Amino acid sequence: MKITFLGTGTSQGIPVIGSDHPVCLSNNPKDKRLRVSAMIEWGENRYIIDCGPDFRQQMLAHQVSKINGILFTHEHNDHIIGLDDVRPFYFRQGKISVYAHPRVVNALKKRFDYVFEEKNKYPGAPEVNVIELNGEPFKLDQLEVTPVNVLHNKLQVFGFRLKDFAYITDAKTISAEEKNKIKGLKVLVINALRKEPHHSHLNLEEALAIIEELQPEKAYLTHISHLLGFHEEVEAELPENVFLAYDNLKIEI
Ligand SMILES: [Zn+2]
Ligand SMILES: [Zn+2]
Repeated sequence: MKITFLGTGTSQGIPVIGSDHPVCLSNNPKDKRLRVSAMIEWGENRYIIDCGPDFRQQMLAHQVSKINGILFTHEHNDHIIGLDDVRPFYFRQGKISVYAHPRVVNALKKRFDYVFEEKNKYPGAPEVNVIELNGEPFKLDQLEVTPVNVLHNKLQVFGFRLKDFAYITDAKTISAEEKNKIKGLKVLVINALRKEPHHSHLNLEEALAIIEELQPEKAYLTHISHLLGFHEEVEAELPENVFLAYDNLKIEI
């Protein structure tokens, strides 16, 4: 299984528009972060987790010509607003499969009413094939995917476990029961916004505590704010098996 980090930034991305924060002015490509998203590939399969405002740019950067579907974690703008840009895939492949919690499907219907329109559909609007996730494991091709419920302040968000890999973003808390679903991992991806506490995101200390508790072989941090600091400096402070993800990083599991 191959994982590509398409974006590792928080909702505003890095650099933040108009910001003169030193991290936003950094010339290190690892300090430039598009909105959070990842691509998972195995065999002939290619799935994208979340589809934010940088989706088009991310697909172009990796010369993606076909996708099997999109898994949504939750309905915040930085995770869904690129949906219209599935059009080139739709024109080539037909309806695009989207996997999401029913609440997220409703949010997509509000934001993208024309995508779901059945009568008088605007020619050229994309079409999707909705697969509602109720929290039970489901299959992508032959591979079992276990949804993991995490809380983003009070909002339920899906993380996903595929074999020995799990991807969690926008978590603030994870119950003991849900943590049981992400034990024994080779790789855990988890969000870490900044060093200061935040009401709906894990900060660095909280993310490291969860990693310490779950003991994956390796962990990668994502959904990063410029306030976390320079990539090189933060990475140097991390435990041996923990890394800061960066845009375009590819890992194999
Ligand atoms: Zn987010
Ligand atoms: Zn969010």
